[in-house]
Amino acid sequence: MEKHTRVLLKISGEALMGSHTYGLDAQMVSQVADDIYALVQSGCQVALVVGGGNIFRGMRGAEMGLERTTSDHMGMLATVINGLAMHAMLTQKGCRSRVLSAVPMPNFCESFTSHRAREYLDSGEVVICAAGSGNPYFTTDTAAVLRAVELTCTLLLKGTKFDGIYTADPAKDVTAEHLSSVSYADVVSKKLHVMDMTAITLAQENALPIAVFSIYKKGQLGKVMNGTAVCTYVS
Ligand code: UDP
Repeated sequence: MEKHTRVLLKISGEALMGSHTYGLDAQMVSQVADDIYALVQSGCQVALVVGGGNIFRGMRGAEMGLERTTSDHMGMLATVINGLAMHAMLTQKGCRSRVLSAVPMPNFCESFTSHRAREYLDSGEVVICAAGSGNPYFTTDTAAVLRAVELTCTLLLKGTKFDGIYTADPAKDVTAEHLSSVSYADVVSKKLHVMDMTAITLAQENALPIAVFSIYKKGQLGKVMNGTAVCTYVS
């Protein structure tokens, strides 16, 4: 496998929820932080985009009758909570990191600029990109692709519940087969649930490869990087 020296890891809010039904699971946050720190110690620069679905999603607000833009603002705030949690846990473990928010909130963290983010990455700090893209009607998957491209990451690592992409939902269909590699076009035409269409299209336009793997399995992130993990490559 090609050696990647700067990667972007996307973790959904759901992953940070662990076995809980809402919010953050300290053990899961700690496990993810360990995996990230190990990757940093191996010499790789790591940018992180965190989701917010464990706390709030814009669609849920819309279902409650709230205006969509406000609901999305609430969702973006949820990603900041998760970003601050990852930062605190990484700090506790001795791993240097910065939270850079797409929406300025100077009392909590710095604002995202690609220049600043690159400087921190070059100095070996984990850059935690919070508040998604800063715009409503987008997802953190799209923000992850955007940040990966902006920061010239050569691989997007998408940590999910499953160890890659299957032909059907493996939780519901026992005949679902694991796919070791798929094209961007397959994801779109076969409606493989990996990322929303905006995210996949942006990745395709910029030839950004994506590795979909299980973030639930401890140490799996390192195995994806050294080519020994069961995962799916989208390219
Ligand atoms: N969000 C947004 N713009 C962005 C990224 C996220 O408005 O660029 C909002 C949106 O409401 C979304 C919520 O933040 O539902 C949480 O993000 P997401 O659903 O992507 O989190 P995940 O599913 O990865 O936990």
